[in-house]
Amino acid sequence: MRKIQMVDTKNQYLAIKEEVDGAIQDVLDSAAYINGKAVKDFTQNLSTYLGVDHVIPCANGTDALQIAMMALDLKPGDEIITPSFTYIATTEVVALLGLKPVFVDVDPITFCMDIESLKKAITSKTKLIVPVHLYGHAAPMEEIMEIAKAHNLFVIEDNAQAIGCDYTFSNGVTKKTGTIGHIGATSFYPSKNLGAFGDGGALCTNDKVLADKMTMIANHGQSARYYHDVVGCNSRLDSIQAAVLNIKLKKLDAYNASRQAVAKYYSNAFASVKEITTPSSLHYSKHVYHQYTLQLKGVDRDKFIAHLSAKEIPCMIYYPVPGHLQKMFGEQKNTNWNLPITDSLTPCVCSLPVHTEMDEQQLAYIVDGVKSFFN
Ligand SMILES: *Cc1c(COP(=O)(O)O)cnc(C)c1O
Repeated sequence: MRKIQMVDTKNQYLAIKEEVDGAIQDVLDSAAYINGKAVKDFTQNLSTYLGVDHVIPCANGTDALQIAMMALDLKPGDEIITPSFTYIATTEVVALLGLKPVFVDVDPITFCMDIESLKKAITSKTKLIVPVHLYGHAAPMEEIMEIAKAHNLFVIEDNAQAIGCDYTFSNGVTKKTGTIGHIGATSFYPSKNLGAFGDGGALCTNDKVLADKMTMIANHGQSARYYHDVVGCNSRLDSIQAAVLNIKLKKLDAYNASRQAVAKYYSNAFASVKEITTPSSLHYSKHVYHQYTLQLKGVDRDKFIAHLSAKEIPCMIYYPVPGHLQKMFGEQKNTNWNLPITDSLTPCVCSLPVHTEMDEQQLAYIVDGVKSFFN
């Protein structure tokens, strides 16, 4: 049996090696390492795939979030509502820009922003909501957009874990996550559902004014060469990464389908284990399973992990410390955030391997390994 890994980017590469090698060679031959044809092609192809007017490539997902927030003319002290139960990048950027993170709770089924918690967190200083489509399940965007509209707030979707996910509105209209809020931010970190061979990220929006602004911010605030209108940053997607992404984008739906097949296999197998709650998706969201995350009830998680580790089955805790308890937020730590679901999920989540290259033998072995802990 092949060694089991949380992600297997190597075998994913080998399956498309010839095409990818050729595309990289083309970039080398063109010597257009920055802003070359591959970047333009990818920008166009991604905007077609997502069904969004404007895509702005950038250097990574964290930059994408930062550029998005910089484009909204926020003022120091403005309050930004975001879940605590997410990867740190979402909230780190808020703090980096001198804005105030306001942590809200998540829903115990979807792991995404809880609507009641969001409503309670809104004050006269709130300017922006940043929902995260965590693990590949969409946040409840229809309700979030209604609330944002009623309070005149911006919405930036953190779509780093859910590219390709479909969200269906109550009127039947379906859109890709990342294209529903004012801005969507995503990452092409190698282990993401659409992963480059290095860092990469992108922004998308249907708002031309925001698109122009973000394009400018990502390029040193430049409006014309050497004329800098606003303070920006330097955030680019390399041509080589774009060339790889162009090939992988064509396979994204197949990649997501193979993640869904893994999830289905696990969920069937664990249905009979009462200590395990398997992830599920609500009617409005497809699930693209960036992670397959179990909730363990009445289980010593450390022992569970040691049991798997002895069988060379990797697993991960995403994330061991929620945002509101991170040292980086200093005095914020002492705020009484009251996030009961976040606090109850943190000690019981455990993510199993899910990627595009898993075979039946590996899946059967993992399932046996997990189940044997409970016998
Ligand atoms: C990966 C990730 C990011 C950051 O992306 P990078 O490309 O690593 O900067 C942001 N938010 C979430 C939820 C992520 O999973």
